[in-house]
Amino acid sequence: MTIAQDAARALFTDLTGRTPDGVWSAPGRANLIGEHTDYNDGFVLPFAIPHRTVAAVGVRGDSRIRVASTFADAPVDVSLDELDELFPTPIGTAPRVPEWAAYPLGVAWALRQSGTAGIGLDIAIASDVPVGAGLSSSAAIEGATASALNDLWETGLDGRALARIGRRAENEAVGAPTGIMDQMASMLGAPDAAIFLDCRSLETELVPLGMAETGLAILVIDTRVKHAHSTGGYGERRAACERGAQIMGVESLRDVTVDDLPRAQELMDEVTFRRVRHVVTENQRVLDTVGLLRAQGARAIGDLLVASHASMRDDFEISVPELDTAVDAALAAGAIGARMTGGGFGGAAIALIEQAALETVSDAVAAAFAEAGFITPVMFTVTPSAGAHRDS
Ligand code: ADP
Ligand code: MG
Repeated sequence: MTIAQDAARALFTDLTGRTPDGVWSAPGRANLIGEHTDYNDGFVLPFAIPHRTVAAVGVRGDSRIRVASTFADAPVDVSLDELDELFPTPIGTAPRVPEWAAYPLGVAWALRQSGTAGIGLDIAIASDVPVGAGLSSSAAIEGATASALNDLWETGLDGRALARIGRRAENEAVGAPTGIMDQMASMLGAPDAAIFLDCRSLETELVPLGMAETGLAILVIDTRVKHAHSTGGYGERRAACERGAQIMGVESLRDVTVDDLPRAQELMDEVTFRRVRHVVTENQRVLDTVGLLRAQGARAIGDLLVASHASMRDDFEISVPELDTAVDAALAAGAIGARMTGGGFGGAAIALIEQAALETVSDAVAAAFAEAGFITPVMFTVTPSAGAHRDS
């Protein structure tokens, strides 16, 4: 049993005095490439990481729903009917429950909105996904909860539909205007593969990565600079993308191609244009990455990762000095490619490296952080892993 599974079971027993009826889990994710393209109906290429959030769940005899987490001081307890009064959270306000509880309770609410009355449950949550690191502990808690409720409430939804439930919880119950990428990656991940997702059609294809056979590894560098989605820059970037699409007369930036960029530059102000250019070129980089992975394997995608980082740093302006330092130091120490991953303004970077270079690259990043006076980053390798499932 993993540490998080043990912790969730123990918390459940503390809470209820009995053992859970079942245990479900869902992973965090890293994004190989395709950043801020999801809410523009574009392309993304994330993969599920081995770190998981676990929900130990038992059926109650009444119609209350109680959630507890090892991260939180106290459980939150509401009736199923109350969920419909608590949510949706009015735009621009904080959830009417402690924020962390809006994730699992939001999932229960979203499932009820889609037509399932539900039954009372106790839910105990534990996780080894780093929180606020851009590795989507949020999708992991949504995915674990959604998988558990789908089984215990006999909702019969598939992974895609549960990803939409998780996104609805995050958008409308938590109030974070994020796209569908994280939830799809957490629900549909598979070992040694990335998920090529078309965020318009929601069609997915697994793209094999062949990490182990080719002697490659993916190093995560968590800068420990916390980001927050529900505030500030993320919403501003979304607004800029919507403005850009409107000026171009299209439904979303998915409909703008690299060839359209000169016209876009004539039509819009300089900042909006740079936001648009990031999204348009990033979509193309995702398509190119998938093509190269299939034709030549992961060793060939380094330059695309580097170009993606430069575009986020210079055009979309969502990087921070710690992320730039991580990327630059990893590349200087021989990484094949490196980029920040996740929404930005902090969080983590990934570096694609030769397994044999793991120590050289991590030492170089640690030294660069020390030299710059940044707090010590947390580094670990991640193997692309399975998506949400019932554990026991
Ligand atoms: P990220 O998804 O990058 O980790 P987010 O800000 O999107 O960052 O989500 C982090 C938030 O999700 C936390 O602040 C907390 O509210 C909630 N959360 C994540 N994991 C857990 C957990 N195991 N228990 C309780 N809340 C959690
Ligand atoms: Mg998140």
